Amino acid sequence: MLRSAKRGRRTKYQLPVPPLPQQSFVTSGYDLDLPDDEQRRGADMKAVGHGGVDLAQKRGTPVRLVPLEHQVGDADVLFVGKLFGNSVVTHHAVREGSGVRDYLVIHGHLEKPATGLARGATLLAGGVVGFVGDSGSPGVVHLHLEVRRAREGVSLSALGAGELVQNAKTVACDPRNVLPLNP
Ligand SMILES: [Zn+2]
Repeated sequence: MLRSAKRGRRTKYQLPVPPLPQQSFVTSGYDLDLPDDEQRRGADMKAVGHGGVDLAQKRGTPVRLVPLEHQVGDADVLFVGKLFGNSVVTHHAVREGSGVRDYLVIHGHLEKPATGLARGATLLAGGVVGFVGDSGSPGVVHLHLEVRRAREGVSLSALGAGELVQNAKTVACDPRNVLPLNP
């Protein structure tokens, strides 16, 4: 019984937080079923809709770095501050075809970022990014996980917080394209 229960909680993809038992894990995704004016967007967001997935977890659960598939080198911290509540944005260089593209991963609505985490810090697999919370999303404790790819020629390090999620600079991606599968 225990074994099968455990197996049932395993996720297909490696995710920054473990699955929560007895609850639908991914509580929301893209609002593709809604007309434009009903799609969620932050007050300062230029992007249409909800660009990520919301992963329910308990407050204070560590959020851990997941290196992306075909990542080149280590991930580094691009932003720590207010974006979707308290957020940590990591940068990942990913080999695609003959080139390398820049991706960012947004970890949003954190209770707080990991202590001492600052822009430029390197994060290895499993390194703590922050802790699950409901900042900017009062009463709904979850991790907002969003993967975005920088548009060609855009230098991520030059972008301000708001620009990180501007469609002119970066585009939301299906995380399944870049998250590694669980072994
Ligand atoms: Zn969300």
